[in-house]
Amino acid sequence: MGNTLLSSGNKYLKRYDKKFYKSSSWLSKRKEILDRDNNECQMCKEKRRYSAAQVVHHILHYQDYPELALTDSNLISLCGVCHNIVHPEKIERMKNKNQKNRIVNEERW
Ligand SMILES: [Zn+2]
Ligand SMILES: [Zn+2]
Repeated sequence: MGNTLLSSGNKYLKRYDKKFYKSSSWLSKRKEILDRDNNECQMCKEKRRYSAAQVVHHILHYQDYPELALTDSNLISLCGVCHNIVHPEKIERMKNKNQKNRIVNEERW
């Protein structure tokens, strides 16, 4: 079963990606991890803050390590804020947008 995933090309993997997040094995694993973490964001917990978990994050990204997709030690419950922190590429994109807006504003002055 696992072999088909690894031996397939990237194209297949990307298509599989969307399917994966809807698969029953992921959905039940996701629930299991949320239960394990008491539905609590584990990064906030470290800072002694409480936030309800909103996502189960792959510490090593699923795209790069599909073989760890359902490995407990690679999964962590996070709130939306912390999930953005662990995905700096999302924030970079937002920053770039803000910078553009600022430039536009400056030009008006
Ligand atoms: Zn958090
Ligand atoms: Zn994530």
